[in-house]
Amino acid sequence: MENFSFKNDTDIRFGTGRIESELHDAVAQFGDKVLLVYGGHSIKKSGLYDQVKNVLSDLKIVELPGVEPNPKIASVREGQKLAQENDVDVVLAVGGGSVIDASKVIASAKFYQGDPWDLVVNANGADRMKLDQLPVVDILTLSATGTEMNFGSVISNPETHQKFGTGGPHTPAISFLDPKLTYTVSKWQTAAGSMDIFSHLIEQYFNRTENNDVSRGMIEGLMRSVLKWAPVALDEPSNYDARANLMWTATMALNGIVRSGNKGGWTVHSLEHELSAYYDITHGVGLGILTPRWMKFALKDSSTTALFARFGRQVFDIQEADDQKAAEAAIQATYNWISKLGFPMTLPEVDIKDETNFDAMAASAVKTGSLDKVAYVTIRVDDAKEIYRESMKNGDF
Ligand code: NAP
Ligand code: FE
Repeated sequence: MENFSFKNDTDIRFGTGRIESELHDAVAQFGDKVLLVYGGHSIKKSGLYDQVKNVLSDLKIVELPGVEPNPKIASVREGQKLAQENDVDVVLAVGGGSVIDASKVIASAKFYQGDPWDLVVNANGADRMKLDQLPVVDILTLSATGTEMNFGSVISNPETHQKFGTGGPHTPAISFLDPKLTYTVSKWQTAAGSMDIFSHLIEQYFNRTENNDVSRGMIEGLMRSVLKWAPVALDEPSNYDARANLMWTATMALNGIVRSGNKGGWTVHSLEHELSAYYDITHGVGLGILTPRWMKFALKDSSTTALFARFGRQVFDIQEADDQKAAEAAIQATYNWISKLGFPMTLPEVDIKDETNFDAMAASAVKTGSLDKVAYVTIRVDDAKEIYRESMKNGDF
């Protein structure tokens, strides 16, 4: 096991009915000027917007609506302006990962006088870790990213075709996790969110650190939870246990606990961020297409066979004594599970019809993810291109 530090201050308020009784004090303890950040229409349609406004009716609320999926730097710029002009005390994010990711960067940008894109790419002397950060309270409405209990955000700049991760000094101060708020999430987003959770687990599971049974065991348990409950949530959107398990699995998958003691990189996410940067596709859908192709690529390196075999046996209950066969069966099982979520399984099905941008995407993915240095299986530019190319056609799984 590697040395590690673990610190996470997020106050989790899991369960139903807690917004009515607890949201007011959770927000007001930080001050009475609130920046309320949300996305499109979902929180208005569900009644959550009205509920939040009622509960906080004695506070001064400034609103930033319209944060889009794959949140754009333009929203962060707008939020920075509102936060500074109104000298807000706290950011209240109500929505999915995109809303919360944008809110976390806005919370830093309040204390920065330049363009907040500097904060995402560490340019012009900007460093979020040295800046103050407003407290962020969030109400999560979609189970996927884990942003509700981590330091990260992913922000897109459509002008430059860039989508980058950025970390701040604080996780959200308080996160309200009410599984019932996810009953209205569409099948598409439920599937994409579940795939995102599964991918976070896969990325952290496949690493070169040996004998970290704490990590491997926790990840296998969380993987079994996603595999079991995602199909239930798709069939029965209002199944509380399904929504609750997905919600807490999402949080646990990416709050830093399961990777403690490991070292490694994020291969499929780095490859996917290029897809959403160039084509603005849904993150989880991109991951679903790329993951089985990456697995097939990785298994060509025989040093991965034993771990793929273990993954197959522990997670998919594959009863096969031969490691190579168990590993191949694990990849097949992964492909089958993803396609049963109802996903498109090739790039042309999400309107990526040709290879025009593959050179630039492959180069950028390898560079931003340091995939030639820290990945579980080394990925060079040509390898990344091969994975994109394989994703153009129906897989032979
Ligand atoms: P999202 O982009 O926040 O939301 C996707 C869609 O779901 C939106 O159209 C939203 O509609 C809708 N939605 C949200 N909650 C809903 C509800 N309760 N009922 C009905 N519709 C609802 O999705 P996400 O998967 O949570 O976030 C994806 C982003 O997070 C990507 O940019 C990804 O790269 C990033 N990410 C971040 C991390 C991290 O650690 N920070 C990790 C992985 C991925 P409205 O706009 O109308 O609300
Ligand atoms: Fe993700």
